[in-house]
Amino acid sequence: MNKEINNITLIGAGLVGSLMAIYLKKRGFNVTIYERRSDMRNTGAAEGRSINLALSNRGLKPLQEVGLAKEVGKMVIPMNRRVMHDVKGNLTFQPYGKEGQFINSISRGGLNTLLMNKAEELGVKIIFDHRCVDINLDNTEVILEHNDIEKQIEADLIIGTDGAYSAVRAAMQKTDRFNYHQRYIDHGYKELRIPPSENGAFHIEKNALHIWPRGNYMLIALPNTDGSFTCTLFFPFEGEKSFETLKTNEEIMAFFNEQFSDAVPLMPTLLEDYNTNPASSLMTVKSFPWVRNKTLIIGDASHAIVPFYGQGMNSGFEDCRVLNDMLNEHKDNWDIVLPLFQKERKPDADAILELALRNFIEMRDSVGDENFLVRKKIEAKLHEQYPNKWIPLYSMVTFHEEMRYSEAIQKGEKQKDIMDKVMRQEGILENWKSVNLESIVNQLD
Ligand SMILES: Cc1cc2nc3c(=O)[nH]c(=O)nc-3n(C[C@H](O)[C@H](O)[C@H](O)COP(=O)(O)OP(=O)(O)OC[C@H]3O[C@@H](n4cnc5c(N)ncnc54)[C@H](O)[C@@H]3O)c2cc1C
Repeated sequence: MNKEINNITLIGAGLVGSLMAIYLKKRGFNVTIYERRSDMRNTGAAEGRSINLALSNRGLKPLQEVGLAKEVGKMVIPMNRRVMHDVKGNLTFQPYGKEGQFINSISRGGLNTLLMNKAEELGVKIIFDHRCVDINLDNTEVILEHNDIEKQIEADLIIGTDGAYSAVRAAMQKTDRFNYHQRYIDHGYKELRIPPSENGAFHIEKNALHIWPRGNYMLIALPNTDGSFTCTLFFPFEGEKSFETLKTNEEIMAFFNEQFSDAVPLMPTLLEDYNTNPASSLMTVKSFPWVRNKTLIIGDASHAIVPFYGQGMNSGFEDCRVLNDMLNEHKDNWDIVLPLFQKERKPDADAILELALRNFIEMRDSVGDENFLVRKKIEAKLHEQYPNKWIPLYSMVTFHEEMRYSEAIQKGEKQKDIMDKVMRQEGILENWKSVNLESIVNQLD
């Protein structure tokens, strides 16, 4: 197969497709991307409503590798701690990591634009308004629809980067022994907004991810460079307090005033946003294999996760880096790399899928809890004193550039068992400063 691979076709010019195209073009392949939507750089979609994402170290690493560190650096707002808002508006704080460790809020449209610009600058062709409707996996052919007309394009290799509802994956699903698992969680999300103050300043702490944890649901807010915050309400679709029951303006206002009293005065367009913006669903996707003949799926197309660890894009970017590393190691021998990639990467995709589901409970429920905060403080002390032995799970996932997710989850489970025991000690909430750190760390051996 190896000698024949010259023309690579990607389906989907989203975050992962655009980055993968850059890597491949830099390796000398001819790269074309077919994208279903119109070019967001012309339609204004990139500058429209701010939707932001948390970019962490394992997503930054590949962006650095392709030479975009400087540009990305100008676009981000570092968030170095969680700020929790209780129902009365009292605040508690939890640093994400050690001094100097942070995650980054970045505009989705802005990052996608940067990646597409870079890809085109290198010579990648991006063809918009072309929807992939099917793949002929035997002949490595893409069937595209443009202006209601179907056409077929041949490629040496196809990479599906067309997101959670991937058409490329759908073609694979029709083949024998393809495993597919999709699950919608009970919660959806709705985007709301805190605009900047009149003089363009941030109304609440800028360098933080704000959370209003309320047990079964939560509101979060991430900063944008224009002084605004994009807020997301994660809320059940059905049930006593849910999108189903919160319908009239009176119900919406009463609920928000009761639950998010300090946020309401900062949200002048709350009702308009709530009534206009959709309640979108959240799902996880597991699939395997990711390779059929000369077609591969990566990013959300092969493994989509819920957003509660802020790792969907980051893990998709990591797919690109891992694939590129393997191509380096095996000298562009796709015969070796394709099976190796799916074998190595699948356990990591499964691990982050699981961690993201678990983190929803932590974010919406535990972060406001004293027990949880003390646990985190003890773990921070352990990490400070034994930086290479005890690394909090969040730090392994978020601040490590390359530690495999599967390794992080394994180590995290061991540490959790130990910490569960520590937290059962009598009087721990008062005496946590005097726990014997060495005896805790020794339990890892
Ligand atoms: C509410 C929410 C918050 C999130 N927050 C974070 C976060 O903080 N941090 C983080 O790392 N991740 C986050 N994520 C996850 C992140 O958005 C995804 O993991 C990421 O967008 C996946 O990138 P992708 O390129 O694989 O897919 P997508 O971004 O979905 O891109 C797919 C592209 O393919 C195109 N396409 C689709 N079908 C076709 C077709 N048939 N033919 C041609 N083109 C097609 C689409 O138009 C799109 O351009 C969040 C997700 C959600 C829903």
